[in-house]
Amino acid sequence: MISFFSSGVRLEQKKSHTMKAKIQALSAPEILFVPLPGAQTSAERCVRPGERVLRFSQLSMPGNHVAITSPVGGVVSAVKTMPHPVRGQVDCAVIQREAEERELSIQAPEWDQTPEQLIRLAAAAGIIDEYDGIPLFKKLKRFRRLKINWLGANVLDDEPYVCSGLAVLRESPDAVRSGLALAAQACGAKETGIAVASRLRARYSSQLSGETAGLLVSGGSGYPAGLSLMKKLRRQGHEPGLIGVQALEAFHYAVEKGLPQVSTVVTVAGEGVSQWKNLRVPLGTPVEALLSACSRKKKTIVISGSPITGERLLDVSAPVTADLRCLLVLPESTQKVKVFPCIGCGRCEEVCPVGIMPWYLHRQLHNRNHPDSEQLLGAEKCCACNACSVICPSGLPLAESVALAMEMKERG
Ligand code: SF4
Ligand code: SF4
Repeated sequence: MISFFSSGVRLEQKKSHTMKAKIQALSAPEILFVPLPGAQTSAERCVRPGERVLRFSQLSMPGNHVAITSPVGGVVSAVKTMPHPVRGQVDCAVIQREAEERELSIQAPEWDQTPEQLIRLAAAAGIIDEYDGIPLFKKLKRFRRLKINWLGANVLDDEPYVCSGLAVLRESPDAVRSGLALAAQACGAKETGIAVASRLRARYSSQLSGETAGLLVSGGSGYPAGLSLMKKLRRQGHEPGLIGVQALEAFHYAVEKGLPQVSTVVTVAGEGVSQWKNLRVPLGTPVEALLSACSRKKKTIVISGSPITGERLLDVSAPVTADLRCLLVLPESTQKVKVFPCIGCGRCEEVCPVGIMPWYLHRQLHNRNHPDSEQLLGAEKCCACNACSVICPSGLPLAESVALAMEMKERG
């Protein structure tokens, strides 16, 4: 069910079924395709085909990106370009897991926790923010430069079905709080909070201890919740920033135990699977392993990333990456989606968090052969949340039109 109100789209959440159970750990498959983001050349990789690696052996060098570490012990059989489940393609180390896995001995780092050292550690531990795919060390550097004074753990999970962040907060509140405090220390933020969508805060805060519940801050009550939270905090005089809850949990383990990020939690849900679960899986596990663990039904399609902005995943051999928060599995629809003319209801304009008039841009693009770029008002502000398309009763692909308008404006 979709309803709307002036600060976003209110969507039926469909999380309670998945949240009934604890996060289930899925063991590593025989072959993993471990993504090596930012390591396109062999000079940026630490392994060659044929080499043996231990669990926690480094696979790529930290540089402009993070250092990636092997989640398993085994033999690297190749480096292969694979489809990325959320964005384009990614080079992966193909690792054949050994039956008797060996592990690199890891020790907690012994150093003063200065901001510079904490940022270096985030790069060495390979931590990536699950909400936007940005390496944690880059975010910390940017927040430091921007003088962010309020830092929040991002647990907004404002899209239907997705609850991997909420599940991590519920099961590891101490690690999340510790990671948040360390990240605040690294970027110089004086205040911290845990950002949860308003309606979810009411539902799940009773499951958290007093200390963690005390840090909860309400995002907006609709989708997208993040932008309205940022606006609210700025009105209160803060300079806010958000970091994904899973990245913060990983940061705690990197600083306290020296452990790199080698796994992530993914929500698998939707009418196309018999069991809805939050699964903790080693990075590089093929998506098809997660679908089998949740009993995927026949004649279904998979949407990866986000139920609102995600795209259909055609190749389920794609590896799990650190920024894959959700796999939505739905029955294959045989009906063609019907589109009707605009009825002038104004809902798209009401829900847009950045004040664009999507109906106007859509009309400019479709009613005129050569729209004047001056007329493509505010298109460059679009944050690609897709809320306008979701709310439109005529089924118009408004976000696509706005993206096209933005491109036309950029080209002049
Ligand atoms: S996709 Fe762009 S235009 Fe549409 S609601 Fe979101 S920000 Fe506004
Ligand atoms: S484009 Fe859709 S949501 Fe916007 S005014 Fe027209 S019918 Fe309403």
